[in-house]
Amino acid sequence: MRKLLLLAVFVMMPCWMTCWTTLATTALAGPLQVAVGVAPVEYFAKRIGGQLIQTTVLVPAGADAHTYEPKPSQMRALSGSTMYLSVGLEFEQAWEPRLKAANRALFFVRLEQGLALMPMPEGHDDHHRGGAKVGHEVEMDPHIWVSPSNVRHMAAHIAEVLAKADPAHAKAYAANLETFVKDIDAVDADLRAAFAGIPADRRVFLVFHPAWGYLARDYGLTQTAIEFEGKEPSPRRLGAVIAQAKARGVKVIFVQPQMSRRTAESIAQALGAKVLVVDPLAGDWAANLRAVAGAFRAALR
Ligand SMILES: [Zn+2]
Repeated sequence: MRKLLLLAVFVMMPCWMTCWTTLATTALAGPLQVAVGVAPVEYFAKRIGGQLIQTTVLVPAGADAHTYEPKPSQMRALSGSTMYLSVGLEFEQAWEPRLKAANRALFFVRLEQGLALMPMPEGHDDHHRGGAKVGHEVEMDPHIWVSPSNVRHMAAHIAEVLAKADPAHAKAYAANLETFVKDIDAVDADLRAAFAGIPADRRVFLVFHPAWGYLARDYGLTQTAIEFEGKEPSPRRLGAVIAQAKARGVKVIFVQPQMSRRTAESIAQALGAKVLVVDPLAGDWAANLRAVAGAFRAALR
């Protein structure tokens, strides 16, 4: 087994080294071209790359990242990119080979690597199918960016790959990382303060699509999903969700602007709960997380 592993390392290594050699020796004409899937990752890249990079976002604001397919024009834009910053969303996993085929020099960066990933809630394997998987059954939660502690690691990872691709500006990337980490710490502190006073029996929230698992993990909240297998729940399942939420005294329901509010509204009526429209894909990451925490707190008043 160990022999096999060693062999694998030797077989893999030349590829990685070649990639980096190519990156490091290419003289950069103009800003580094960085492609990302979703807006929050663009925010992270810009915080660290500043004017030194130019970003392309595949999923436009307001679109559903789960059902997304890159357009031919985007594939063409990607052919000029140096790197792609992936978080392991379904389409990113599914499109990785095509992105690489369209641009053989593209460095595909997996920002989810090195994070403690959590499995997605049960029954949610439909539209993340093909996403990060462990073994054959368990699918890991790809919404890694909703947690400041995850973002701290992702930011360091981004700074590292930018510096490798553009060593002439390594100092600038390191300095920007330092500033960004201070801001991440400030967001983290604000979230801790916002969630601190919430009593134990008010820490459960319902969410149509379970995109907030890492936020819940970090701040002692419990996320319960309404959707089932990526679809509207059946009347029977909906009844069970409402009964369970009633028993737990749920007062807050999260719904994404990209998704239907109808089911959430009817559940809210049954529970006397508030529906908060919160967007995990919002571009201004820091302001968005603060707004989510503030709205959650206010809804419990
Ligand atoms: Zn999702």
